[in-house]
Amino acid sequence: MSNDRFDVIVVGSGPGGATLALRLAKTGKRILILERGDYLKREPDNWDAKAVFVDGKYQAKDTWFDDRGHSFHPGLHYAVGGNSKVYGSALFRLRERDFSELVHSDGVSPAWPLSYAVFEPYYAEAEALFHVHGQRGLDPNEPPSSGPYPFKPVAHEPRLQALSDALEKIGHHPFPQPLGILLDEVGTQALPTSPCIRCSAFDGFPCLTNGKADAQIICIGPALAYPNVTLLTGAYVERLETDPSGRTVTGVHVIQNGAPEIYTADIVVAACGSLSSALLMFRSASDQHPNGLANSSDQVGRNYMRHNNAAFMAVSLAPNDTVFQKTLALTDFYFGADDWDYPLGTILTNGKSHGEEVQAEALPAFLQWFPDKPFDEIARHSLDFWVMSEDLPLPTNRITLAKDGRVTLNVRPTGGEAHRRLRHKLEQLLTNVDAHPHLLHHSLYLGKNIPIGGTAHQAGTMRFGTDPASSVLNLDCRVHDVDNLYVVDASFFPTIGAVNPTLTIIANALRVADHVAGRLG
Ligand SMILES: Cc1cc2nc3c(=O)[nH]c(=O)nc-3n(C[C@H](O)[C@H](O)[C@H](O)COP(=O)(O)OP(=O)(O)OC[C@H]3O[C@@H](n4cnc5c(N)ncnc54)[C@H](O)[C@@H]3O)c2cc1C
Ligand code: SF4
Repeated sequence: MSNDRFDVIVVGSGPGGATLALRLAKTGKRILILERGDYLKREPDNWDAKAVFVDGKYQAKDTWFDDRGHSFHPGLHYAVGGNSKVYGSALFRLRERDFSELVHSDGVSPAWPLSYAVFEPYYAEAEALFHVHGQRGLDPNEPPSSGPYPFKPVAHEPRLQALSDALEKIGHHPFPQPLGILLDEVGTQALPTSPCIRCSAFDGFPCLTNGKADAQIICIGPALAYPNVTLLTGAYVERLETDPSGRTVTGVHVIQNGAPEIYTADIVVAACGSLSSALLMFRSASDQHPNGLANSSDQVGRNYMRHNNAAFMAVSLAPNDTVFQKTLALTDFYFGADDWDYPLGTILTNGKSHGEEVQAEALPAFLQWFPDKPFDEIARHSLDFWVMSEDLPLPTNRITLAKDGRVTLNVRPTGGEAHRRLRHKLEQLLTNVDAHPHLLHHSLYLGKNIPIGGTAHQAGTMRFGTDPASSVLNLDCRVHDVDNLYVVDASFFPTIGAVNPTLTIIANALRVADHVAGRLG
């Protein structure tokens, strides 16, 4: 096989690479997808909170370091479908103003080189492709759209409906979370033929019933129905080789089952996830590209963003019987509040937490000292939220690769004050609403900021732009320095906004695929 020549090689089968591959499949061109992971095994452990959150069964085993030399395990998942196998499939569009310069309390979030209008048609296609369920007209910061969501919103269970009603009553604008899910329901009951059964194992778990709109189910499976598309699993791309001019990638060096192979194609697309794509560029350093491929600007790996994220639990006396809880969103504080002129961010309900998850993730350190750790009880009585604020692209927030292979991630947090205020807003809201007579009296609020290993929303290590001195990719997401190399994960993001990143990755992959298809003729 390695003697064959392909038209396009795609490295990585997550939402970025898989979407591009599916879009190009119908061109009839020969496409090879190289994925370092295997198919994620379907097994009961998919829905076992201990296996998923405590043992990290499906997480990459890599050890990386922070800038003080402390080790951590990045929250990466090497599998067909990439991180989307475990994602929570909240599929939001960035807001229109996210594409312009936004002033934050501690810096400026720069403008994108393309406007929202360029992305709008691709967002619409991305929503259709990934089965997004939602409702337009309720999100006060929703950007303009050319049509309704392709599927009706996922219904709230009673506790969430009560919370939504109560928030509305005090003047807020909650709305159904846009979710990519293969769900047919009546009321809150999944139909017998629905792939999704509305279980409690959403957000962080793989889906045992293939009910989640992940990149394997939505793109890789359908792409492989085309005879011109090939997927190799267990195929780790070690480096990319160029011709003597340094302008053309001529070889893709792969280790498969311990054996080296070299593949060739007219066009190569990196879609390893923002952090891993930057590492691939570093590993591809050569005489022509001594600081790493694509890195004449010294920008590769820099401007890393990840959101300021916190898992937040409101624990009350009354148990919370909700099964599928990830149905509510609130963006009222996205661009500020009456007591704060700067952006704050987004509040979402999370999937229902489990005792093991509380133990592994969301519990503040002081509770770990309790002799009889009340994890299951806390989980049973909690209403769970995800609080997400924008972090700024700093050149010093970067991933680097040392000669001995050691990976270091430098993150100096920005936006801390906005994030604290947003958490406080949520506490105030929960104290003020009366969603259930006993719901929020005697509540205990537990919150935990997601640490450096929380790489779920990785973005920005190879931003796109018009100036090769300050950006790595051009507006088509082609590397400035190389004529046949593209990047379609979240590396290209100049800023990350304060909504989940994946719909933007998918929309952009569709946009870049159209450009590549035009180039292939
Ligand atoms: C627990 C969790 C929850 C999340 N929830 C949400 C959510 O609700 N909404 C949302 O928008 N986003 C969410 N995300 C983020 C979302 O998963 C990512 O934004 C998305 O998967 C990124 O897509 P990608 O294609 O850029 O990269 P990835 O999904 O990371 O895929 C990259 C692929 O490349 C492969 N690869 C890497 N290096 C190599 C190599 N050298 N050779 C070959 N293959 C390689 C990897 O194995 C992987 O399969 C979540 C993530 C996690 C972990
Ligand atoms: S809620 Fe639906 S999509 Fe999510 S894990 Fe359960 S069955 Fe799968």
